[in-house]
Amino acid sequence: VEEAKADEDPNAVERPPVITIMGHVDHGKTSLLDAIRNAKVTEGEAGGITQHIGAYTVSQDGKDITFIDTPGHAAFSNMRQRGTDITDIVIIVVAADDGVKPQTLEVIKLAKESGKPIIVALNKMDKETANPDLVKGQMAEHGISPVDWGGDIEFVPVSAKTGMGIDDLLENILLTAEVLELKANPNAKAKAAVVESSLEKGRGPVATVIVQNGTLKIGDHVVCGAAYGRVKALINDMGKNIKSVAPSHTAVTVGLNEVPPAGEILMAMDSDKEAKEYALKRKEYERNKELSKSTK
Ligand code: GDP
Repeated sequence: VEEAKADEDPNAVERPPVITIMGHVDHGKTSLLDAIRNAKVTEGEAGGITQHIGAYTVSQDGKDITFIDTPGHAAFSNMRQRGTDITDIVIIVVAADDGVKPQTLEVIKLAKESGKPIIVALNKMDKETANPDLVKGQMAEHGISPVDWGGDIEFVPVSAKTGMGIDDLLENILLTAEVLELKANPNAKAKAAVVESSLEKGRGPVATVIVQNGTLKIGDHVVCGAAYGRVKALINDMGKNIKSVAPSHTAVTVGLNEVPPAGEILMAMDSDKEAKEYALKRKEYERNKELSKSTK
């Protein structure tokens, strides 16, 4: 299957940025993801947040931003290992009262290796023991130098608890995204990345995907690694049934014949036959790989 480079496509148009939040355990990744969603998604949505699906999109100043909402940085590592590079900007969360910890160092390394732009969220600024300057110094020692110290990384003070700084963080993300000139072609054949998947009672195999290029639609014949099927339903991050998913947006996809692993790529194909053939080939390939492993 050909890999159309979305940003070289003359029909590509602006798409929202996709964000991954990483940081040391207990520094507030989950709280920050919840705070952002709470601050934005509920506006105008009666009933508010319905469910966690592994990713969500919020609007800031009329522009969309999609967050990968899975715990820890396992999703980011898994995806990169599979060559699924879906993150546009990395947010490193560091608690202003706790500073740089072993996992902070790990995510600094991961983020740098990825070559993605980094924004630091200095969290827990509501705490009396918060010491942002100390933390900036520690980060600078590891090559993450604050802009206000003459470096090139934005440090945004936030509190996931009070909601302070959330707007600043989102505005910083949009400014960074603007420079990246992220694009995709909504009219191309859909290509999407799986961020979470499971077997659900009643629904069967489901996969939360973020669309990278094209538009994923109900009725599309799709292949996703060794899984294939026809898109029967698409459910957005508010639990609503939708008909299609645009680039950088997310939905739970129903209709695959088996559960694909996170990090797998889902692609729309021309026909059921093509999707099935591709999935079978992939299955065979994986079986051979297993066989050659076990005979070693
Ligand atoms: P994670 O492990 O990085 O996902 O961290 P959590 O989001 O689970 O947060 C760890 C703990 O820190 C929880 O008890 C949170 O309530 C608390 N916490 C997170 N953000 C803040 C904050 O901005 N201020 C304060 N005071 N506590 C926070």
